[in-house]
Amino acid sequence: MPTSAAMRNSGTDATLAHFIDGRFVRTARRVFENVSPIDGAVVGLVPEADSAVVDDAVKAARAALRGPWGKMSEQQRAAILHKVANGITRRFDDFLKAEILDTGKPASLASHIDIPRGAANFDVFANQVLTLSSETFRMATPDGAGALNYAIRVPRGVIAVISPWNLPLLLMTWKVAPALACGNTVVVKPSEETPTTAMLLGEVMNEAGVPPGVYNVVHGFGPDSAGEYLTRHPGIDGITFTGETTTGTAIMSAAAKGLRPVSFELGGKNAAVVFADCDLDKAVEGTTRSVFANCGQVCLGTERIYVERPLFDAFVGRLKTAAESLRMGDPFDKATTLGPLISRDHREKVLSYYRKAQEEGAEVVTGGDIAQLATPYDRGAFIRPTIWTGLPETSAVIREEIFGPCCHIAPFDAEEEAVSLANDSPYGLATSIWTENLTRAHRVAAQIDVGITWVNSWFLRDLRTPFGGSKQSGIGREGGVHSMEFYTELRNVCIKL
Ligand code: NAD
Repeated sequence: MPTSAAMRNSGTDATLAHFIDGRFVRTARRVFENVSPIDGAVVGLVPEADSAVVDDAVKAARAALRGPWGKMSEQQRAAILHKVANGITRRFDDFLKAEILDTGKPASLASHIDIPRGAANFDVFANQVLTLSSETFRMATPDGAGALNYAIRVPRGVIAVISPWNLPLLLMTWKVAPALACGNTVVVKPSEETPTTAMLLGEVMNEAGVPPGVYNVVHGFGPDSAGEYLTRHPGIDGITFTGETTTGTAIMSAAAKGLRPVSFELGGKNAAVVFADCDLDKAVEGTTRSVFANCGQVCLGTERIYVERPLFDAFVGRLKTAAESLRMGDPFDKATTLGPLISRDHREKVLSYYRKAQEEGAEVVTGGDIAQLATPYDRGAFIRPTIWTGLPETSAVIREEIFGPCCHIAPFDAEEEAVSLANDSPYGLATSIWTENLTRAHRVAAQIDVGITWVNSWFLRDLRTPFGGSKQSGIGREGGVHSMEFYTELRNVCIKL
């Protein structure tokens, strides 16, 4: 558990609740504070699930699997999931406020990405499940009559969904929606930093007619808390996780007992490659978003930029101007474009890289320290957007995921060199290539060892496409039919004719 998470023992009532078997459960032996990174205010008291609470949630999910949810047709389930999407949209302002208080992200971002995408996930996967087909094979037999094979898809069972804090509703529903569409039931463990929207979704589930036990939420931390109890629970049939690579390693070892399958979306250290033949305006605009959006706390975000030498100085200058024009402050103010980091703890981690960069001799193009803001934002977790140049590729600042509003920019001279620099990472999540030369774009994209390559864009997502990372950035793919593959088992039926 984070050292800063203030715990209160029994006797204190939680203001947030677990959601188990269609009911909100507030009682807990321990509750912890949900602290807003905007101004340090306590926005809620969260119950921490012990192993008995997790067990209740898993049992409720198991019962619902056998009950009405498991017996419904795909069409019936899809109709209910469309109602969930509508329910989120109807309560847009409630979700928006909760997400902003938990994360500090600007309303301009959350109203554009987090909440609409949270709703869209239910619509997309409700539609997707109705288009699923499976294979059939006729085979010859010695008696000449033959046999017919056909495969049917069945739900995998009770799915544990462990989600992070950077896009809380969006990333959680990205897993819950396809899992439910396929007929599974879920137990969700949202991040301890951002518990609220997962609970609000329980209200929407009830209003939409999702049967009790289909969607459950337990709150708490990772090790020795709800996350570990859930992933170790023998009643869990599959684990889908988004978060840090080191946490994925711990969850994989928990999943090994009972040989439960995992789907992992993990960390990244993503590169952008900017060729001299790019459209500079578009490259600067796109890279400003990929480095600084959500205060740099996007798994797909760019932390390493390689720019072809003739454009290097111009690009650095333009990105500096863009970084310095970002506006920090009240995230509810539509003019605010840069929120705080998720917590003071995380700010300490990001600052340790800011210090390391300076110790290693980086030129600080802009930023490099915390932001000096007026009260009450001086009690928050704001930090200045930062750009460095001049570090060796061996620097920890270039090798490790920082997850803050910062990047290092280095020049390159040849296309092969750019490809090799971009690939020189233990991670393999995403890359953006900026060039107006289409032949080059295809050639370079095919050589970059990542799950997602964008050409002249960033974060442009068609939810039917495969999403995931190679190397240490993930296991498996979700999105479209790929989600359906993880959330179902294929059963072959062979009929002797
Ligand atoms: P995290 O790994 O610290 O926590 C994620 C979740 O795992 C939280 O709910 C946490 O409580 C839980 N957890 C922690 N330890 C656990 C354990 N031992 N057992 C079970 N559960 C445990 O990640 P975070 O800090 O919340 O999120 C940031 C990270 O997520 C970054 O590394 C980022 O790159 C990654 N991320 C990846 C993607 C992707 O799609 N690849 C998307 C978003 C974020």
